[in-house]
Amino acid sequence: MKKISIAIDGHSSTGKSTLARELARSLGYVYIDSGAMYRAVALFALENGLVDDTLDEAGLLEHLQALELDFKVNPETGRSEIHLNGKNVEKQIRTIEVSRYVSEVAAIPQVRTKLVALQQEMGAEKGVVMDGRDIGTVVLPGAELKLFMTAAPETRAARRYKELLERGETVSYAEVLKNVRHRDHLDSNREVSPLTQAADAIRLDNSDMGLKEQYERVRSYAERILKAKK
Ligand code: C5P
Repeated sequence: MKKISIAIDGHSSTGKSTLARELARSLGYVYIDSGAMYRAVALFALENGLVDDTLDEAGLLEHLQALELDFKVNPETGRSEIHLNGKNVEKQIRTIEVSRYVSEVAAIPQVRTKLVALQQEMGAEKGVVMDGRDIGTVVLPGAELKLFMTAAPETRAARRYKELLERGETVSYAEVLKNVRHRDHLDSNREVSPLTQAADAIRLDNSDMGLKEQYERVRSYAERILKAKK
């Protein structure tokens, strides 16, 4: 059976990664979380004194070429997890502190050049589901199935707030909503590959849609494409 590439883009906290992971699992495809790569670069900046209220862009650029980013499967969970310079940082990249700076890091052209090249290498073979902001427009423009996920900012903030509380973070709903709006703004207005819906992407507003319904809908899109390819 032929394989396809699936690109899932959209706003923050729309459940892209949950859907992408499930889709990859059920199709036997590789899942690549491109946001984890930007988060890992932001974590590097935070851990190396390159953030003091504002981001030291020049300082970060000095280290950029030497940064090693890759995904390895965690044998305990079977999930692929991000490694920064050989260390598993999957948990550390999910904090609100990293979320606060990640969109600034992701707006730096040299950071995007490096990460997009890595993502294109990882997605060179078909049989991949990749989620992010510019996958259908820049990273994998030839993907056979492209989705653009969105939902009301309040719905997304409420989901994210619940997730952070469950992880034991001390944070307020207002702060999370502010972060969601801030990232939307930076992601949609940056100069290099801003967040936009690809002309051939299917828009999925999941403000009032459960996970099962989303999954079934997207799975049927994938099946239709696969059938036509046989
Ligand atoms: O997907 P996630 O919310 O974890 O991504 C974190 C941040 O990384 C986004 O808010 C965005 O600024 C950036 N990003 C990006 N391009 C991608 C994936 C993520 O700019 N392909």
